[in-house]
Amino acid sequence: MKSSTTLTLISKYTKAFILFFSILIALSLFWNIGNVKKETQRLAEMEATTSLNKDLAFRLWGTRHGGAYLIVDEQTQPSVFLAHVSERDVKTTSGKTLTLYNPATMLREIMNDYSKLYGVKARITAELYLNPENAPDAWEAKALKELKRGKKEFKEITTIEGKDYLRVMQPMYMEGGCLKCHAWTGIKVGGLRGATDISISMEKYEALKQQSINKLIFTHTILWLIGIGSIFFLGRQLNKSEQKIKENQEHLRIVYKALEQSANGILVADQNGIIQYTNGGFERINGYMRDELVGQSLYKIKSNLNPSVLYDDMWSKISNGQTWRGELRNRKKDGSVYWCYETISPVIAPGGKITHYIGVVEDIENRKLAEEHIKQLMQYDALTNLPNRNYFREKLDAQLLNASVESRIFGLIFLDIDRFKMINDALGHLIGDILLQSLSERFIHESKNGLFISRLGGDEFAIITPLTDSKKIIENYIEKIKQIIRKPFFIQEHDIFVTASIGVTIYPQDGIDAEILIRSADMAMYGAKINGKNTHLFFEPVHGDFASEILEIESGLHKAIENSELFLVYQPKWDTKENRFIGLEVLVRWQSKTLGFMNPAKFIHIAEETDLIVILGEWILRESLVAMMRLSLVVGFVPKISVNLSPVQFKSEGLNAMVKDSLEKTNFPPEQLELEITEGALVNNPVASIEKMTDLCNYGVSFSIDDFGTGYSSMSYLKKFPVSTLKIDKSFVDDIIDDPHDRAIIQAIVTLAKSFNIDTIAEGAETREQVDALNSLGCYNIQGYWHSKPLEYTALLAYFEKIKE
Ligand code: C2E
Ligand code: CA
Ligand code: CA
Repeated sequence: MKSSTTLTLISKYTKAFILFFSILIALSLFWNIGNVKKETQRLAEMEATTSLNKDLAFRLWGTRHGGAYLIVDEQTQPSVFLAHVSERDVKTTSGKTLTLYNPATMLREIMNDYSKLYGVKARITAELYLNPENAPDAWEAKALKELKRGKKEFKEITTIEGKDYLRVMQPMYMEGGCLKCHAWTGIKVGGLRGATDISISMEKYEALKQQSINKLIFTHTILWLIGIGSIFFLGRQLNKSEQKIKENQEHLRIVYKALEQSANGILVADQNGIIQYTNGGFERINGYMRDELVGQSLYKIKSNLNPSVLYDDMWSKISNGQTWRGELRNRKKDGSVYWCYETISPVIAPGGKITHYIGVVEDIENRKLAEEHIKQLMQYDALTNLPNRNYFREKLDAQLLNASVESRIFGLIFLDIDRFKMINDALGHLIGDILLQSLSERFIHESKNGLFISRLGGDEFAIITPLTDSKKIIENYIEKIKQIIRKPFFIQEHDIFVTASIGVTIYPQDGIDAEILIRSADMAMYGAKINGKNTHLFFEPVHGDFASEILEIESGLHKAIENSELFLVYQPKWDTKENRFIGLEVLVRWQSKTLGFMNPAKFIHIAEETDLIVILGEWILRESLVAMMRLSLVVGFVPKISVNLSPVQFKSEGLNAMVKDSLEKTNFPPEQLELEITEGALVNNPVASIEKMTDLCNYGVSFSIDDFGTGYSSMSYLKKFPVSTLKIDKSFVDDIIDDPHDRAIIQAIVTLAKSFNIDTIAEGAETREQVDALNSLGCYNIQGYWHSKPLEYTALLAYFEKIKE
């Protein structure tokens, strides 16, 4: 399309050129022909003038001499027109006759000869004549009139007998010498006596003219042809180059468009680093508009975020004519930093000089993010953002190397959250996750002080301390970690208190390679768990047994029931105000054939973590009901008993049916059964919990909240649940003498419970002082060593005997 309009445009110009050139040639031809015509006429005129001049000269000579006497013979006869002249004829002494020839006569004769010789017709004429031959013809009469008017010459091309002639007439004036013959005319000296005229045939001049014109036509035609040819040729060349230019322009347009549309940023700078061009991609990537950069130095966009060796390498490469490629961190106009992949190539002129640099910038921010993300996935735990097990192993290996190089020590700390499964079961996995996240946030914050804290999975964390020189510093770190954990968490309306079992191993005293250190830290952690949780333990070789012990406990528990290794003890509760027995708490014991005697603190949580607790719990309930019914036969009444319900058990499907079934089968009065549950068991699904509890309450069973104050919820929250007793946790009782804060808590619990019409009982009171203090705070119901330790069945019988008194 474009090129065809270019073609028509070009041919239009060519046409105009041809027309113009043709007109020029035509004008030149006409002008030259005109010149030739003028020239030939001038030639003819020159010939005429020459002839006339000759005539004039001759006539003047004749006039001056008054004529000439010629010998009369055949050729020369006396002129009849001079008959009036005296002495026209004279006789010589020898008798020859001479006759006078006046100039006019001679001239006329000469002219006749001319005419014959050259075709030049010359005549002499006058208005007054004697010789009729001299009578003027029509043209001469006209010419004579012009001369009479004073013209010195009259000339004209006229036709004589069908042919062109140049006729020229010049005047003849009367002179003294003329009077001899022409006095008769009466014309005075100086007057116009007549004229000579001449007719030059134009034939030969016409031929000459035609020849010249033909030559002119020929040369002009040749010139015209050459001109037209050249115009065509140039036009075509012009057309071609024009087309080429158009094509190049189109090409450039497309390339430019491609440059503009490129997702990559493109920048061109001259050899001095002054920016010449940036494309749209460049603007998109770093926010700088073209106008802001063109004409500016590259320094304007240099970020200084990259190591200087990188720039050195880049400049040395490109100034040597090579292309540099690499990843750089750049700064956008808004100040933000991004990663890009840059290709910088020099543009080298034919002489070898670098004229420009072209930079292509690819935004690899997303790729980098993906890489970081992958690294994050590979090295960090998705839930907590803490380093994961892989990263922990890498770090441990690196730390081992550093420690051996620097000959220093460091601690490896394994940490497991106590009863995490229960928190999970009680409050739901979401809150469990949030708890792990919140704890990890604290850990991440603490990591800034040099600790490497990673999550190995579940509720297990591994911590690597910085290199140090003393165990004391490692202990400080452990204390710090415990503090971090101890601070309560507030998650979705729940106050959650967490403890952890911590195992510590020290390089190099406990081991010099990663495997051994990990194993010993793990063992120490199990040791801490078995020791009753919420403690930390430095590894000792004996701890090697703990891990296997846990496995043994687990497998041993499965068989404990059938093997009758479990038995129950009963701890009395006492009303110190009324001095009366209130009830018994049922507590389980395990006398293992292989593992020896075991407190529930050691095995209950293992049972809870494997769901074995449900079977165990069922056995404990039935067993205690049976035992109490038997006891009632002895003591005469069915004592009120409290049976502990694990949260796992409380949550289990068939709990209510199981409880009712046990009561029915044993005939145990439901009013005498109290179930102890912890706060955590309630808050997970309050609606279901309330439903479950209400159902059992309607059946006659009552509920107490165990370990109250250490759990998860606000006290007012409890109002919703059908609870008859709060058991104030032993930890508050422990410090009741020394810690006013604990006293305040007990006071608050007692007051609140009273307002809700709920009973309170204090656990773990060991001394008289503690009991007095509790009494002073309004708490009179006591369960603790002060009154009685948990008692085996037979001891219980003795107890009842004793209190009867
Ligand atoms: P708990 O329910 O808080 O039980 C009270 C614990 O405090 C008992 O330990 C009891 O022996 C102890 N204790 C009572 N008074 C004193 C005192 O004055 N001083 C000291 N130092 N300790 C006192 P035990 O029997 O070792 O039970 C530990 C925990 O094991 C119980 O805490 C309970 O959570 C769990 N447990 C025990 N028996 C059962 C059971 O039959 N079923 C379930 N699910 N859990 C049980
Ligand atoms: Ca209890
Ligand atoms: Ca308790």
